[in-house]
Amino acid sequence: MARVEYREMTCKSALNRVEGMPFRWSLNPFRGCVHGCQFCFALPTHRYLDLGIDDFSRVIFVKTNLPEVLAAELSRRAWKREQVAIGTATDPYQAAEGRYRLTRRCLELFTRFRTPVSLVTKGTLVLRDLDVLQDLTRRAGATVCFSVPTTDHEIWRRTEPGTPPPEQRLKVMKRLVSAGIRAGVLMAPLLPGLSADPDQIERTVRAAADHGAQFIGSNVVHLGPDVRDYYFAFLEREYPELLAGYRRLYGTKYAPKPYQITVERRVQEAKATAGYGEDHHRRVEPPAEERQLALPIGAS
Ligand code: SF4
Repeated sequence: MARVEYREMTCKSALNRVEGMPFRWSLNPFRGCVHGCQFCFALPTHRYLDLGIDDFSRVIFVKTNLPEVLAAELSRRAWKREQVAIGTATDPYQAAEGRYRLTRRCLELFTRFRTPVSLVTKGTLVLRDLDVLQDLTRRAGATVCFSVPTTDHEIWRRTEPGTPPPEQRLKVMKRLVSAGIRAGVLMAPLLPGLSADPDQIERTVRAAADHGAQFIGSNVVHLGPDVRDYYFAFLEREYPELLAGYRRLYGTKYAPKPYQITVERRVQEAKATAGYGEDHHRRVEPPAEERQLALPIGAS
Protein backbone atom coordinates (compact mmCIF):
# COMPACT_ATOMS: atom_id res chain seq x y z
CA MET A 1 0.00 0.00 0.00
CA ALA A 2 1.21 3.52 -0.74
CA ARG A 3 2.24 5.80 2.11
CA VAL A 4 -0.79 7.51 3.62
CA GLU A 5 -0.96 11.23 4.18
CA TYR A 6 -3.23 12.53 6.92
CA ARG A 7 -4.59 16.06 6.66
CA GLU A 8 -6.33 17.60 9.62
CA MET A 9 -9.29 19.83 8.80
CA THR A 10 -12.16 21.50 10.58
CA CYS A 11 -15.79 21.02 9.65
CA LYS A 12 -18.70 23.42 9.89
CA SER A 13 -21.35 20.75 10.40
CA ALA A 14 -21.23 17.23 11.76
CA LEU A 15 -24.59 15.74 10.84
CA ASN A 16 -25.43 15.51 7.15
CA ARG A 17 -29.03 15.55 6.04
CA VAL A 18 -29.67 12.57 3.73
CA GLU A 19 -32.36 12.42 1.07
CA GLY A 20 -33.83 9.30 -0.51
CA MET A 21 -32.59 6.86 2.12
CA PRO A 22 -34.42 5.28 5.05
CA PHE A 23 -32.17 7.19 7.48
CA ARG A 24 -32.24 10.97 7.52
CA TRP A 25 -28.85 11.73 9.04
CA SER A 26 -25.32 10.54 8.51
CA LEU A 27 -21.96 11.29 10.07
CA ASN A 28 -18.47 10.62 8.72
CA PRO A 29 -15.42 11.41 10.88
CA PHE A 30 -13.01 11.16 7.95
CA ARG A 31 -12.89 11.75 4.23
CA GLY A 32 -11.12 9.00 2.33
CA CYS A 33 -10.43 5.50 3.60
CA VAL A 34 -7.23 3.48 3.85
CA HIS A 35 -9.07 0.21 3.38
CA GLY A 36 -8.59 0.59 -0.35
CA CYS A 37 -11.60 -1.43 -1.54
CA GLN A 38 -11.49 -1.60 -5.33
CA PHE A 39 -15.27 -1.14 -5.66
CA CYS A 40 -15.82 1.65 -3.11
CA PHE A 41 -18.71 3.85 -4.16
CA ALA A 42 -17.14 6.82 -2.35
CA LEU A 43 -13.93 6.87 -4.44
CA PRO A 44 -15.02 9.84 -6.59
CA THR A 45 -15.77 12.02 -3.55
CA HIS A 46 -12.12 13.11 -3.41
CA ARG A 47 -12.71 14.90 -6.70
CA TYR A 48 -14.59 17.56 -4.69
CA LEU A 49 -11.31 18.15 -2.88
CA ASP A 50 -9.36 18.57 -6.12
CA LEU A 51 -7.78 15.16 -5.71
CA GLY A 52 -7.82 12.10 -7.92
CA ILE A 53 -9.77 8.91 -7.41
CA ASP A 54 -6.49 7.13 -6.53
CA ASP A 55 -6.01 9.53 -3.64
CA PHE A 56 -9.08 8.28 -1.79
CA SER A 57 -7.01 5.69 0.06
CA ARG A 58 -3.81 7.77 0.18
CA VAL A 59 -4.97 11.15 1.47
CA ILE A 60 -7.19 10.96 4.52
CA PHE A 61 -8.89 14.07 5.86
CA VAL A 62 -9.51 14.05 9.60
CA LYS A 63 -12.30 16.26 10.96
CA THR A 64 -10.56 17.16 14.19
CA ASN A 65 -13.32 19.41 15.57
CA LEU A 66 -16.14 16.95 14.78
CA PRO A 67 -17.07 16.14 18.42
CA GLU A 68 -17.35 19.82 19.36
CA VAL A 69 -19.52 20.58 16.33
CA LEU A 70 -21.66 17.49 16.96
CA ALA A 71 -22.18 18.45 20.62
CA ALA A 72 -23.52 21.83 19.53
CA GLU A 73 -25.87 20.25 16.98
CA LEU A 74 -27.21 17.63 19.38
CA SER A 75 -27.82 20.31 22.02
CA ARG A 76 -30.25 22.18 19.82
CA ARG A 77 -33.88 22.05 20.87
CA ALA A 78 -34.78 21.24 17.29
CA TRP A 79 -32.82 17.96 17.39
CA LYS A 80 -35.39 15.13 17.40
CA ARG A 81 -33.01 12.29 18.25
CA GLU A 82 -33.52 10.54 14.95
CA GLN A 83 -31.24 7.65 14.06
CA VAL A 84 -27.84 8.61 12.67
CA ALA A 85 -25.96 6.37 10.22
CA ILE A 86 -22.19 6.43 10.81
CA GLY A 87 -19.74 5.42 8.09
CA THR A 88 -21.71 5.94 4.92
CA ALA A 89 -18.76 7.34 2.95
CA THR A 90 -15.70 6.24 4.93
CA ASP A 91 -14.87 3.58 7.50
CA PRO A 92 -15.24 5.07 11.00
CA TYR A 93 -12.84 2.44 12.41
CA GLN A 94 -9.98 2.79 9.95
CA ALA A 95 -6.46 3.18 11.38
CA ALA A 96 -6.68 6.94 12.04
CA GLU A 97 -9.44 6.36 14.59
CA GLY A 98 -6.88 4.66 16.83
CA ARG A 99 -5.11 7.96 17.27
CA TYR A 100 -7.89 10.54 16.87
CA ARG A 101 -10.75 8.75 18.69
CA LEU A 102 -13.33 10.81 16.82
CA THR A 103 -15.81 7.98 16.34
CA ARG A 104 -15.56 7.09 20.01
CA ARG A 105 -16.12 10.68 21.16
CA CYS A 106 -19.12 10.99 18.83
CA LEU A 107 -20.59 7.75 20.21
CA GLU A 108 -20.21 9.17 23.73
CA LEU A 109 -22.14 12.24 22.63
CA PHE A 110 -24.88 10.16 21.00
CA THR A 111 -25.17 8.30 24.30
CA ARG A 112 -25.38 11.53 26.28
CA PHE A 113 -28.01 12.95 23.94
CA ARG A 114 -29.90 9.64 23.64
CA THR A 115 -29.63 9.41 19.89
CA PRO A 116 -29.73 5.94 18.27
CA VAL A 117 -26.95 5.00 15.90
CA SER A 118 -26.32 2.47 13.17
CA LEU A 119 -22.76 2.07 11.99
CA VAL A 120 -21.04 0.11 9.24
CA THR A 121 -17.42 -0.97 9.44
CA LYS A 122 -14.79 -3.39 8.30
CA GLY A 123 -12.56 -2.32 11.18
CA THR A 124 -11.84 -4.50 14.19
CA LEU A 125 -10.98 -1.39 16.23
CA VAL A 126 -14.70 -1.12 17.01
CA LEU A 127 -14.06 -3.61 19.82
CA ARG A 128 -12.19 -0.87 21.69
CA ASP A 129 -15.51 0.97 22.04
CA LEU A 130 -17.48 -1.94 23.43
CA ASP A 131 -18.14 -0.04 26.67
CA VAL A 132 -19.60 3.03 25.00
CA LEU A 133 -21.63 0.88 22.58
CA GLN A 134 -23.13 -0.93 25.58
CA ASP A 135 -24.08 2.40 27.16
CA LEU A 136 -25.54 3.59 23.88
CA THR A 137 -27.50 0.35 23.49
CA ARG A 138 -29.06 0.88 26.91
CA ARG A 139 -29.85 4.55 26.45
CA ALA A 140 -30.88 4.89 22.81
CA GLY A 141 -29.97 1.90 20.64
CA ALA A 142 -26.94 0.89 18.58
CA THR A 143 -26.54 -1.45 15.65
CA VAL A 144 -23.15 -2.47 14.30
CA CYS A 145 -23.07 -3.82 10.75
CA PHE A 146 -19.89 -5.66 9.80
CA SER A 147 -19.24 -5.50 6.11
CA VAL A 148 -18.01 -8.98 5.13
CA PRO A 149 -18.55 -9.56 1.41
CA THR A 150 -16.40 -12.71 1.35
CA THR A 151 -14.47 -15.09 3.58
CA ASP A 152 -12.25 -16.23 0.70
CA HIS A 153 -8.71 -14.99 1.40
CA GLU A 154 -7.69 -14.69 -2.21
CA ILE A 155 -10.68 -12.52 -3.10
CA TRP A 156 -10.37 -10.54 0.14
CA ARG A 157 -6.67 -9.77 -0.37
CA ARG A 158 -7.19 -8.56 -3.89
CA THR A 159 -10.45 -6.64 -3.54
CA GLU A 160 -10.11 -5.13 -0.04
CA PRO A 161 -6.34 -4.98 0.47
CA GLY A 162 -6.31 -2.61 3.46
CA THR A 163 -8.96 -4.29 5.59
CA PRO A 164 -8.60 -6.72 8.50
CA PRO A 165 -9.10 -10.37 7.49
CA PRO A 166 -12.78 -11.39 7.35
CA GLU A 167 -12.48 -13.94 10.16
CA GLN A 168 -11.16 -11.21 12.48
CA ARG A 169 -14.16 -9.05 11.70
CA LEU A 170 -16.45 -11.98 12.43
CA LYS A 171 -14.70 -12.70 15.73
CA VAL A 172 -15.17 -9.09 16.79
CA MET A 173 -18.83 -9.25 15.79
CA LYS A 174 -19.20 -12.33 17.96
CA ARG A 175 -17.68 -10.48 20.92
CA LEU A 176 -20.09 -7.60 20.44
CA VAL A 177 -23.12 -9.89 20.19
CA SER A 178 -22.01 -11.71 23.36
CA ALA A 179 -21.78 -8.34 25.08
CA GLY A 180 -25.38 -7.48 24.20
CA ILE A 181 -24.77 -5.27 21.17
CA ARG A 182 -27.02 -5.74 18.15
CA ALA A 183 -24.59 -6.76 15.41
CA GLY A 184 -24.70 -8.62 12.12
CA VAL A 185 -23.18 -8.99 8.69
CA LEU A 186 -23.66 -7.12 5.47
CA MET A 187 -22.38 -9.11 2.52
CA ALA A 188 -21.77 -5.90 0.71
CA PRO A 189 -21.04 -5.61 -2.02
CA LEU A 190 -21.24 -9.00 -3.65
CA LEU A 191 -19.04 -9.11 -6.74
CA PRO A 192 -20.25 -11.07 -9.80
CA GLY A 193 -17.93 -13.95 -10.68
CA LEU A 194 -16.26 -13.66 -7.27
CA SER A 195 -18.08 -13.25 -3.96
CA ALA A 196 -21.52 -13.51 -5.61
CA ASP A 197 -20.92 -17.10 -6.77
CA PRO A 198 -23.19 -19.65 -5.08
CA ASP A 199 -20.43 -21.52 -3.18
CA GLN A 200 -18.95 -18.22 -2.00
CA ILE A 201 -22.30 -16.97 -0.75
CA GLU A 202 -22.87 -20.23 1.09
CA ARG A 203 -19.47 -20.00 2.79
CA THR A 204 -19.98 -16.39 3.85
CA VAL A 205 -23.48 -16.97 5.21
CA ARG A 206 -22.31 -20.06 7.10
CA ALA A 207 -19.38 -18.16 8.63
CA ALA A 208 -21.66 -15.27 9.64
CA ALA A 209 -24.14 -17.70 11.20
CA ASP A 210 -21.39 -19.61 13.02
CA HIS A 211 -20.26 -16.34 14.58
CA GLY A 212 -23.76 -15.46 15.76
CA ALA A 213 -24.72 -12.72 13.31
CA GLN A 214 -28.08 -11.33 14.39
CA PHE A 215 -28.91 -10.41 10.82
CA ILE A 216 -27.43 -10.87 7.37
CA GLY A 217 -28.00 -8.42 4.54
CA SER A 218 -26.55 -8.26 1.06
CA ASN A 219 -26.44 -6.34 -2.17
CA VAL A 220 -24.81 -6.72 -5.57
CA VAL A 221 -22.13 -4.15 -6.35
CA HIS A 222 -23.18 -0.86 -8.00
CA LEU A 223 -20.67 0.76 -10.31
CA GLY A 224 -21.16 4.44 -11.04
CA PRO A 225 -19.17 5.76 -14.04
CA ASP A 226 -15.92 6.69 -12.24
CA VAL A 227 -15.96 3.66 -10.00
CA ARG A 228 -16.66 1.43 -12.97
CA ASP A 229 -13.53 2.62 -14.80
CA TYR A 230 -11.45 2.15 -11.66
CA TYR A 231 -12.87 -1.29 -10.93
CA PHE A 232 -12.56 -2.44 -14.55
CA ALA A 233 -8.88 -1.43 -14.53
CA PHE A 234 -8.50 -3.55 -11.40
CA LEU A 235 -10.21 -6.49 -13.14
CA GLU A 236 -7.91 -6.10 -16.10
CA ARG A 237 -4.93 -6.50 -13.78
CA GLU A 238 -6.24 -9.16 -11.41
CA TYR A 239 -9.11 -11.00 -13.09
CA PRO A 240 -8.88 -10.34 -16.87
CA GLU A 241 -11.06 -13.37 -17.59
CA LEU A 242 -13.99 -11.63 -15.87
CA LEU A 243 -13.81 -8.35 -17.73
CA ALA A 244 -15.97 -9.21 -20.74
CA GLY A 245 -18.74 -10.54 -18.51
CA TYR A 246 -18.68 -7.38 -16.40
CA ARG A 247 -18.89 -5.20 -19.48
CA ARG A 248 -22.05 -7.07 -20.48
CA LEU A 249 -23.51 -6.86 -16.99
CA TYR A 250 -22.72 -3.22 -16.28
CA GLY A 251 -23.97 -1.19 -19.21
CA THR A 252 -25.35 1.06 -16.47
CA LYS A 253 -24.59 1.60 -12.79
CA TYR A 254 -26.68 -1.38 -11.72
CA ALA A 255 -26.52 -5.04 -12.72
CA PRO A 256 -29.74 -6.12 -14.49
CA LYS A 257 -32.65 -6.83 -12.17
CA PRO A 258 -32.90 -10.56 -13.05
CA TYR A 259 -29.26 -11.00 -12.06
CA GLN A 260 -29.80 -9.17 -8.78
CA ILE A 261 -32.84 -11.34 -8.06
CA THR A 262 -30.82 -14.50 -8.76
CA VAL A 263 -28.13 -13.44 -6.31
CA GLU A 264 -30.71 -12.43 -3.72
CA ARG A 265 -32.30 -15.86 -4.05
CA ARG A 266 -28.92 -17.53 -3.48
CA VAL A 267 -28.48 -15.49 -0.32
CA GLN A 268 -31.99 -16.29 0.91
CA GLU A 269 -31.47 -20.01 0.31
CA ALA A 270 -28.14 -19.99 2.13
CA LYS A 271 -29.71 -18.06 5.01
CA ALA A 272 -32.62 -20.49 5.21
CA THR A 273 -30.15 -23.39 5.36
CA ALA A 274 -28.27 -21.61 8.14
CA GLY A 275 -31.50 -21.19 10.09
CA TYR A 276 -32.28 -17.55 9.41
CA GLY A 277 -35.92 -16.68 9.23
CA GLU A 278 -36.82 -19.60 11.50
CA ASP A 279 -35.45 -18.53 14.85
CA HIS A 280 -36.57 -14.92 15.05
CA HIS A 281 -35.29 -14.50 18.57
CA ARG A 282 -31.65 -14.77 17.58
CA ARG A 283 -31.63 -14.25 13.85
CA VAL A 284 -33.75 -11.63 12.24
CA GLU A 285 -33.83 -9.68 9.00
CA PRO A 286 -32.02 -6.35 9.15
CA PRO A 287 -34.30 -3.35 9.26
CA ALA A 288 -34.60 -1.32 6.05
CA GLU A 289 -32.02 1.25 7.09
CA GLU A 290 -29.29 -1.36 7.45
CA ARG A 291 -30.13 -2.98 4.16
CA GLN A 292 -29.84 0.44 2.59
CA LEU A 293 -26.60 1.15 4.39
CA ALA A 294 -25.16 -1.74 2.46
CA LEU A 295 -25.60 0.25 -0.71
CA PRO A 296 -23.11 3.02 -0.08
CA ILE A 297 -20.69 0.75 1.69
CA GLY A 298 -20.67 -1.69 -1.17
CA ALA A 299 -19.85 0.06 -1.37
CA SER A 300 -18.11 -0.69 4.14
S1 SF4 B 1 -15.90 0.39 0.87
FE1 SF4 B 1 -15.91 1.12 2.98
S2 SF4 B 1 -14.12 0.19 3.92
FE2 SF4 B 1 -13.87 0.00 1.70
S3 SF4 B 1 -12.68 1.80 1.08
FE3 SF4 B 1 -14.84 2.35 0.87
S4 SF4 B 1 -15.38 3.30 2.81
FE4 SF4 B 1 -13.47 2.17 3.14
